[in-house]
Amino acid sequence: MPLYYERPLELTHGEGRHVWDAEGNRYLDFFGGILTTMTAHALPEVARAVAEQAGRLVHGSTLYLNRPMVELAERIAELSGIPDARVFFTASGTEAVDTALLLATAHRRSNQVLAMRNAYHGRSFSAVGVTGNRGWSPTSLSPLHTLYVHGGVRTRGPFAGLGDAEFIDACVADLRDLLAQTRGGVAALIAEPVQGVGGFTSGPDGLFAAFRDVLAEEGILWISDEVQTGWGRTGDHFWGWQAHAANGPPDLLTFAKGIGNGMSVGGVVGRAEVMNCLDAHSLSTFGGSQVTMAAGLANLDHLLAHDLPGNARRVGAALIERLRAATADTGLVREVRGRGLMIGVDLVRPGTDQPFPRAATLALEAARERGVLVGRGGAPGGNVLRIAPPLSLTAAEAEEGAAALVSALRAVAA
Ligand code: PMP
Repeated sequence: MPLYYERPLELTHGEGRHVWDAEGNRYLDFFGGILTTMTAHALPEVARAVAEQAGRLVHGSTLYLNRPMVELAERIAELSGIPDARVFFTASGTEAVDTALLLATAHRRSNQVLAMRNAYHGRSFSAVGVTGNRGWSPTSLSPLHTLYVHGGVRTRGPFAGLGDAEFIDACVADLRDLLAQTRGGVAALIAEPVQGVGGFTSGPDGLFAAFRDVLAEEGILWISDEVQTGWGRTGDHFWGWQAHAANGPPDLLTFAKGIGNGMSVGGVVGRAEVMNCLDAHSLSTFGGSQVTMAAGLANLDHLLAHDLPGNARRVGAALIERLRAATADTGLVREVRGRGLMIGVDLVRPGTDQPFPRAATLALEAARERGVLVGRGGAPGGNVLRIAPPLSLTAAEAEEGAAALVSALRAVAA
């Protein structure tokens, strides 16, 4: 097989929160296809919208307008909280990040950017240039000149153990030090409100509001990368940036993953003044194609009509409590953290504070043997199990997944 898979699992179909493999085994999908299945697998409304649109016109290209694209852009512009917002669609999160960086650097006429340590923003040449972890960047060369700021991780680094207010003050001082080292303007700060691949970790609420005050002094743009945190995933808010909202929305917001429910939809929404830097209706051949936009609209309608962000908040909070209580005595779990249905289980060598990636590998396998698919992340080495199921997860399914995961962790600890 000309593909890189060590232990392939061939999926054939899905329904709700479950998927099936080629041998007929059923799995609870606790990772939602890397957070892409936002509502549910094979959601009938999305399947119908895709089939109907595919029967009319699959793709007219970004050269021409199409109604589903106009409607989805209007919905996202309004939901973004950014006044007089404009939207560009892309076919992936990486492309959305690339576009945001292109816009910010063009608008500010600078290729200096700020990014967060431990961040992940994709694998294109400019996206790896703001990805704050060597392990995820195949090259240290980049067209961007990037400075990395503290703030995404609270369990390690020089500010570990500080209270919220002290942590924020220390990160702001770090940001000011970095800015003092720059020559000429800095284009933007790009940051995930909750770091995704980094292990579902974040600074305290209010961190980016504090950063934003400093950035505003020099006109530096704030790009909130909501590829993982968007669409109510964090339960409390529709976007991750809203946990930091005291002084308003970001200048640019990147989105992808969940909105297409598995169809390739990404994009940037932002202030018109910045978005006008590109003649962007022809930015990407596949961005905004009719079929993917129709999927996005049907999916968004379903999400809002069923208040799935509210469901994520309720079911997620109970799941976090359940996992905390049931894993406290395993010795393996430093922390169960997260909000909504974005939950990280941080594994350490028993009796130490040392990340334990091997335990994550074994727990992932053991969970799969028990019929539950989870993700992993965290640096260094991937010691965090990541739980991010479709936002329609029921309480009974949360219990099904928790029981399997706890049993898997106990087997690893034994
Ligand atoms: N930004 C963030 C925050 C992500 O988590 C990812 C993907 N994991 C990307 C960008 C890149 O998205 P994609 O894989 O769709 O290109």
